[in-house]
Amino acid sequence: MEVGLFQPDGRANPAYLKLDLYCKGLRIDESCALGDDARQIIRNRAGLGSGLEVVIGEEMYTNIPVVEWWVQNSPYWLVKVGDDYQVWRDKKPFDYDAYDNLKPVGKGPWLGKLDRANAEYVDTVRIPEEPKWYKQRTSSGKLMQRIGCLQGTYLGIYWGPRCQNWGPNGENEYCKFCTEGQNLGSQEEVEKSIEDVVETVLAARKESRITFVHINTGFIDSNDYWGLFEPVMRAVKERTGLLLGLQAPPDADFENYRKFKALGVNNVSLCFEVIDEELFKEIGPGKARRSGLQRYLDAIDFNANDVGFDTVNGEIIAGLEPVESSMRAIDWIVDHGAIPTVCVFRPVIGAAYGKRKPPRVEDMVPVFQHFYRRCMEKGLPIGIAPNVKVSLIMLPEECRGLMPNPSAWPLTRAKLWLMKTMFGAWFNARVKV
Ligand code: SF4
Repeated sequence: MEVGLFQPDGRANPAYLKLDLYCKGLRIDESCALGDDARQIIRNRAGLGSGLEVVIGEEMYTNIPVVEWWVQNSPYWLVKVGDDYQVWRDKKPFDYDAYDNLKPVGKGPWLGKLDRANAEYVDTVRIPEEPKWYKQRTSSGKLMQRIGCLQGTYLGIYWGPRCQNWGPNGENEYCKFCTEGQNLGSQEEVEKSIEDVVETVLAARKESRITFVHINTGFIDSNDYWGLFEPVMRAVKERTGLLLGLQAPPDADFENYRKFKALGVNNVSLCFEVIDEELFKEIGPGKARRSGLQRYLDAIDFNANDVGFDTVNGEIIAGLEPVESSMRAIDWIVDHGAIPTVCVFRPVIGAAYGKRKPPRVEDMVPVFQHFYRRCMEKGLPIGIAPNVKVSLIMLPEECRGLMPNPSAWPLTRAKLWLMKTMFGAWFNARVKV
């Protein structure tokens, strides 16, 4: 069965829609009232969170590009009909070459009026409300949305100084897809205390029922991430019992990962983005100088096989290297017992690669099919954590909808369902708030 936007019964395929919206973005019809209905757009997480949070199908969270220059070429429209939000698509065939005729400047959202006579209804979606705690302040007076923000249903927090690839001594060494150095201070607090973080986590748990807190950082000269994270991780774990994830460059001393595990960190994620050595150096000169690709791979291998966190992720960005190379990266991660996190390259405003064209969905589908196939063949523990829906990436279990035969691997899926049920019970017994 060929995979496309619509299923044989005429309904939209949520997985394909999520992926295609990452690639093309979404234009906004004048009927929308996003100022009242939506979460504020917060550019964080290296700029990837620059889009509109939307829920497709049955709780498939996504963060859809709406402000970048290339979104002007999107065939997709968000329309408000009564109280509902709908996605429509222009009927005329999508023209990838039309990007060449657009000036790669300007800032959306790209507002306009949908020409209904020449468009088709795709799906009804949900716009998640902005949580009330976003506008709450911590006891030190900081706005909680500048401490952390929801990316789907989990809480993401940046901790530590600005990634030192952005200076003062790392000028021009930042990764070319990233805008973290511009966001910190403008979109997120640079100075946050442990108490600011704990209060924000507690508020997010109380109202948004988060289960997972993901704390990330960029490079620090010492590469001592245990020294940087230990106090804040300990405080969050001890006072909440929530699942905890760490995303940082490779630590100077791999033995520190055992200490993170003993402290209760559940997940470690290492972002090497591309496995092509030359592209790795070109895209992230600071990463290459301060660490190098091999050290990222060694850290993934060590964490997955010597330390044994609940899960270890190797993160890549599809669309930054040839499709075969992304597949090779997926194979490497899976063959070393870790789970790939596969982002779709988003040329965001302000990034060195901000004027590039977004990837073609036709190139992305085989990457994500390969991703799902390899995870299932290996029986990796995907989709286990309770209530963790991620808006910035296609979750591996979501990629099932991209497969020609979604009912394959019934036993593996049954095993995963059982593991999810058991892990959920384990979590509920331990969570403190
Ligand atoms: S390591 Fe690269 S992607 Fe990460 S924050 Fe620094 S510049 Fe951005």
